[in-house]
Amino acid sequence: MEFKRCSRCGAFYTNQGYVCPKCTNKDNLELSQFKTFVEKNGLEINSLSQISTQTGISEKNLNRFLNYDGLEGYKKLFI
Ligand SMILES: [Zn+2]
Repeated sequence: MEFKRCSRCGAFYTNQGYVCPKCTNKDNLELSQFKTFVEKNGLEINSLSQISTQTGISEKNLNRFLNYDGLEGYKKLFI
């Protein structure tokens, strides 16, 4: 069994996924907020810190989201 460490709360967990079961809902919620924000403001976004200020999602979590499957296109916006 492989233990992973949740990057949101630091707890160890063994399920599949990017974060532990306790944080999954919050993570999905912030991920969809992030996507909605980018869809609405795409061309006007210059930096992750701007998104962080306006959505309340930490830059650390935004950086993690960029490495999620399916968000490759978002990553290009911030290089
Ligand atoms: Zn967690």
